[in-house]
Amino acid sequence: MYNVLSGKEPANAALEKAQKKVAEMEKKPGLAIVLVGSDPASEIYVKKKLEKAERIGIKTRLEKLGADASEEQVLKLVEELNNDREVDGYIVQAPLPPQIDYSRVLQRISPEKDVDGWTPASMGKLVSGVKSFRPATPLGVIRILEHYGVETRGKDATVIGRSNVVGKPLALMLLEKNATVTVCHSRTQDLSEHTRNADILIAAVGKPGLVTADMVKKGAYVIDVGTTRVEGKLKGDVDFENVIKKAHCSPVPGGVGPMTVAMLISNLVDAAPSG
Ligand code: NAP
Repeated sequence: MYNVLSGKEPANAALEKAQKKVAEMEKKPGLAIVLVGSDPASEIYVKKKLEKAERIGIKTRLEKLGADASEEQVLKLVEELNNDREVDGYIVQAPLPPQIDYSRVLQRISPEKDVDGWTPASMGKLVSGVKSFRPATPLGVIRILEHYGVETRGKDATVIGRSNVVGKPLALMLLEKNATVTVCHSRTQDLSEHTRNADILIAAVGKPGLVTADMVKKGAYVIDVGTTRVEGKLKGDVDFENVIKKAHCSPVPGGVGPMTVAMLISNLVDAAPSG
């Protein structure tokens, strides 16, 4: 009776659209990914992003630096990529080793090539409602809602999580779509008071099972951004098995994850000159 809000169909639709655009381009778009160190999860994510991009005809490049790379080395590479005409967009995969200040790196990425939408310039544009690259994961959440025809205008939306990469930009995007937005975080006193009223509930925390069925309004739309590896399996923040009995809910895996990669690729294709 309630829908599983799979991210696979909207992700495939977005990738197909991007592929068509790429096919029509004389000069194929170029994506670079900077990977510093050898964090196993990052290596998997990067591989996935590169494979998907290559499959639709994007030229890709992996720039690998050792775990002991200095901030100066990363900033030098960023400068090179800013000036490289073969690279239309690039990302510096997070997390970075502790000797490198990620916020300083973000400040140096050219906003025109910021396909992750994480630089202060892109975030500022989001706050001001100006067109820019929107961060891929929150954009993926918005596209899932659109794909399933979920009305946001005038609806109560609660976002759990306020990180710069998910919760905060997502709250702004929902506001842009005329939802009435509540943002919860680790200091929120009574979480369920805010979740129970939500027509749209987004969990972006990283705590498996945080959102239980009693915290969810009947018939609500629940999007689970959380991904935590538990005994080798990917777990979301939402108790999916019970929540799906009273609300529409996205699964983990197969929900927001595929959308994140697809949105990154859509941003890249938009960044490339179409002539
Ligand atoms: P993060 O930077 O660790 O932020 C987590 C947020 O959750 C923080 O704002 C924190 O509050 C809040 N929080 C922690 N405990 C809470 C609690 N008990 N009740 C309410 N709020 C609580 O994480 P993130 O980067 O935003 O990522 C969130 C989750 O999404 C992670 O599981 C991550 O792996 C996943 N993710 C998935 C994708 C994907 O493609 N599927 C992409 C990105 C992230 P404070 O601000 O007060 O500390």
